[in-house]
Amino acid sequence: MSCMTESEVTSLRHLPAVAAVLATAEAAVLLERHGRVATTDAIRQAIDEAREALRTAPAAAPSATEVAQLARGLLEARAPGLRPLFNLTGTVLHTNLGRAVLAEAAIDAAVDAMRHAVALEYDLAEGARGERDDHLRSLLCELTGAEDATVVNNNAAAVLLCLNTFALGREAVVSRGELIEIGGAFRMPDIMTRAGARMVEVGTTNRTHPADYRNALGEHTGLVLKVHTSNYRIQGFTAEVGARELAAIADAAGVPLLNDLGSGSLVDLSRYGLAKEPTVRQAVEEGARLVTFSGDKLLGGPQAGFMVGDRVLIEQINRNPLKRALRVDKLRLAAIEATLNLYRDPDRLAERLPTLRFLARDKADIEAQAHRLQPAVAARVGDAFVVEVGNCLSQVGSGALPLDTLASVALLIRSRGSQSELECLATALRTLQRPIIGRVADGALCLDMRCLAEADEPLFLAALAELDIGGTATHIP
Ligand SMILES: *Cc1c(COP(=O)(O)O)cnc(C)c1O
Repeated sequence: MSCMTESEVTSLRHLPAVAAVLATAEAAVLLERHGRVATTDAIRQAIDEAREALRTAPAAAPSATEVAQLARGLLEARAPGLRPLFNLTGTVLHTNLGRAVLAEAAIDAAVDAMRHAVALEYDLAEGARGERDDHLRSLLCELTGAEDATVVNNNAAAVLLCLNTFALGREAVVSRGELIEIGGAFRMPDIMTRAGARMVEVGTTNRTHPADYRNALGEHTGLVLKVHTSNYRIQGFTAEVGARELAAIADAAGVPLLNDLGSGSLVDLSRYGLAKEPTVRQAVEEGARLVTFSGDKLLGGPQAGFMVGDRVLIEQINRNPLKRALRVDKLRLAAIEATLNLYRDPDRLAERLPTLRFLARDKADIEAQAHRLQPAVAARVGDAFVVEVGNCLSQVGSGALPLDTLASVALLIRSRGSQSELECLATALRTLQRPIIGRVADGALCLDMRCLAEADEPLFLAALAELDIGGTATHIP
């Protein structure tokens, strides 16, 4: 820095001190919001950055208020990772974005359970210790036709627990066509090993017959497993043994059949214009002694894994010490109970359950919304981009109905310049205070409007107002 001019040295000298910045009205807000330690750190960092900037490009030193504003930017860049965002990816149940958005009734119930003591394991009539699962048992039985029910952390845990309860040190029989990997290291063979079960594969990838199962069943068999191939389909020259037939085979051998549905719906989705998924009630009725399914896939509730079936088997599961390690907390139990309650009134389900509301949303409605928002988005992204309303395809996500897409409408944003400008825009939207997540495909940034609730449009516009592509454009290498 030997070649600094006198004016540069002066502007460096004019940089405000930490104490001066802390005394500003702007800093008072930061102190209230982020506390003294984080605010002071951020102010120091802002002053350091301003000093560096002045050294490389001479200018007037920022005022104390301007430094406080820089500090605010630094503090807000450290906003919580789990802050809300807009899922405009077109995947309704996006595992990386938290899957189902909960119903208002579920949110209220969870908040109440957070704020107050609840009778989690307390029998109010008897004034004695109660059962954590009792709150859900009767609801699950009513909605599925099963004799008994229990719940754990997620469906992966439900499958693990069933395997461990019935096939520890024994054999678990499964078709080669159903050895699924769900992603996130959930592979059926690995889960079996960890559960302490010996996997016995039967049939081939494309064809499995009743005799394959019959020949494999013996005195060492602990469990027969049927897995819904939720995230892929085998087509062509295929054969599988249906659940009803397999249940009869397992029963004849005196071994329980577990049917892992994965997404398992509690209502017939074709009623809402969607493809048919097996309902849990059907799976129970087909004769599987145990049925497992997720809470946060098509069911539209919080993360959970349900096991429904024969009372003696559910009791055995509940006595497994692993059940205690995989149990759910009061917040989720409250949210699950409220979500399941909505299913008692299927006529109003689509208006109350966001997952179903999004999935069943009318294309004309999505299109109207896209037209409503197009001018604001076009104005905000500026002349460097073209913003059009266009058709796109949404999907259910989370492995449910993998081959079915839903006709939807998006704002399609294309760059008048280079593709890297489009990438920059996508990044700028992703890094907003309330991020907007779309997907880039065919040279366009596609913002699928399906999952933007009408009530959230003002929030969306407010988030968009923070967009500063000028600022991000300087990051283009
Ligand atoms: C999704 C899925 C699981 C795992 O369920 P999580 O609730 O995500 O743990 C297990 N089996 C099948 C068939 C699935 O589709």
